[in-house]
Amino acid sequence: MSTDTQPFLMHIEEVFALKDDPVVVVGGRILTGSVRRGDPLRLAPSDPAMILTVGEEPEVNYADVHVASAPVKVSLVIKPVPAGAVRAGLILASVGATAADLEIGIQEVTLDIATGFSGDKRARDGSTQAADKAQRLRERGALHAANGNPREAMRDALEATYAAEAFNARRDYQPGQWVEIGASLAGMGGDAFGFGWALMGKKLDAKAVYNERLALFKTGLVAAVAYCKACRLAVVLDTDLRCPNSPKHPASQNILFVMPEQVPQAIQVAQARRK
Ligand SMILES: [Zn+2]
Repeated sequence: MSTDTQPFLMHIEEVFALKDDPVVVVGGRILTGSVRRGDPLRLAPSDPAMILTVGEEPEVNYADVHVASAPVKVSLVIKPVPAGAVRAGLILASVGATAADLEIGIQEVTLDIATGFSGDKRARDGSTQAADKAQRLRERGALHAANGNPREAMRDALEATYAAEAFNARRDYQPGQWVEIGASLAGMGGDAFGFGWALMGKKLDAKAVYNERLALFKTGLVAAVAYCKACRLAVVLDTDLRCPNSPKHPASQNILFVMPEQVPQAIQVAQARRK
């Protein structure tokens, strides 16, 4: 299917809005389709009755264009927008876009944060990238959840915890930097991380990440794998996070929380660690 026949879908990465002004400028990547001045659009997944209009010619690479098509980055002037309705992480879509269209678009939401819009705002390194990735994954997971796809939502939420863990592994920041990064992590659905560097202590981080995974596990959509010392085997843990072969076997401290289809690989990893 050519991109022209697909509905317009754009992942909103930045929003520029003046207080009480019903016109906002949104920046982001076109995932599918194309857009031009006057196109009616809606926010998704969100109230389909709220119709927005592209007020000016789309801007690509600082130049106005007649038509902007996937996969370019674009800036759009849209109106009228109720205060606070538009925010980064949402998708701007053709009025007729279906949930199935949206699912395709959501899968396309880029996680390539090294080349993201925020890339020129601050120095990038593996750590801030991991923090951004965690945030992006949470945002995408929220989109999946709102679009009625809990399984994909769970996959992104779980992966976000691993990205957050990668971020936590770095310890060489000054407190001033922790504030900014903490804010970034807490951006959406990141309540477990709190705000500010004082809450980013090592112990709290590890525990918050574990608790986040535990909450995902309790939905029943996530599997837990660990090496059982008594069985001398990697096993899929039961709902109490115990060895399924006997409740008397010692509980493992090293649990891998994975999506069901990742269980075979997780068993291999746990087996190789033997702990
Ligand atoms: Zn066992």
